[in-house]
Amino acid sequence: MVESNPNEIVIVTSEHSKINSVDFDNLVFGRVFTDHMFVCDFEDGKWQTPKIMPYQPMTIEPSARVFHYGQAVFEGMKAYKDKNGKIFLFRPDQNFKRINKSSARLAIPEFPENYFFEGLETLLKMESDWIKPGLGNSLYIRPFVIATEPAISASPAASYRFMIICSPAKAYYNKPVRVLFAEKFSRSADGGVGFAKAAGNYAAQFYPTGLAQKKGFDQIIWTDASTHEYLEEAGTMNIFFRVGDKLITAPTSDRILDGVTRKSVIQLAEDLGIECEVRPVSVKEIKQAAKDGSLKEIFGAGTAAVISPVSAFEHADDVFEIPQIENSYASLFKEKLTHIQHNLSEDQHGWRYEV
Ligand code: PMP
Repeated sequence: MVESNPNEIVIVTSEHSKINSVDFDNLVFGRVFTDHMFVCDFEDGKWQTPKIMPYQPMTIEPSARVFHYGQAVFEGMKAYKDKNGKIFLFRPDQNFKRINKSSARLAIPEFPENYFFEGLETLLKMESDWIKPGLGNSLYIRPFVIATEPAISASPAASYRFMIICSPAKAYYNKPVRVLFAEKFSRSADGGVGFAKAAGNYAAQFYPTGLAQKKGFDQIIWTDASTHEYLEEAGTMNIFFRVGDKLITAPTSDRILDGVTRKSVIQLAEDLGIECEVRPVSVKEIKQAAKDGSLKEIFGAGTAAVISPVSAFEHADDVFEIPQIENSYASLFKEKLTHIQHNLSEDQHGWRYEV
């Protein structure tokens, strides 16, 4: 059925829902997608009428620039449902701003705010049954933009497609991760695109991460490209170190993604009276703290995993195990964040956004 709503989004609903074929207790992250997707094309110098249509394959010419030059950016966010069936997003304004910041860096036209929010909210209301209540359950939302112009000259495209697809999710990582501090490879460099969620930033990590996995690590903690002496972030998470009772995390820069979870943890730490230093963190000081026993925790912070504790790290063939402690900051922040997200606690900073 095709209909046009007052906001001028053209809606085509799917005839059959796939939802009954999905095993919500055994979800593999990012494999199953909901019934509908949001699509908006940029042509003739402007974003055209947005559409919501059944999730389906699409036809793009082989010459589309995204395939050749990686002109593509994306976002990652989640929707949550409380026990009364209300749907919430967490600080979606931050994701909206960040996708346009990423787009600007990749020479992609910025997407209008009203299309983003109206499109997303309409889609989420249509997919409400896919959002299961209960802590740990969420609907992962993937907005992205690709350069679709069929022409392979190495220059920005004249046409783009902005899309939103959604995938039901359980908690992303459930066990503490073992990480390798990068000594050779780099994720980003000064003046580069590290702060953007550019598709190529992720492809470039697959090979070194694969090597780390062969050595028994789950992830790499990236260090600064010029000296490899300062710890920056993980592949899809910002990173926090607890030394004594104090937290330390690297400042954002043009090499580091300005994570929504990171900035929320910094604010929550302040609310809780936990000191949090935002400054360059050296490999040397963290190894020293691990040796003298003052390193209590390392954890990652990001939308997918929320908070992901680190159980060991390796650098220059030195391996340090980090025993998991009771009353960790990692579990404290995870609880605080997930309770705000699921409407189970007060929302002092107005982070919850009801759909
Ligand atoms: N760093 C990188 C490189 C990421 O891809 C992500 C995931 N978006 C993060 C950090 C965490 O950001 P957020 O808390 O906004 O998900």
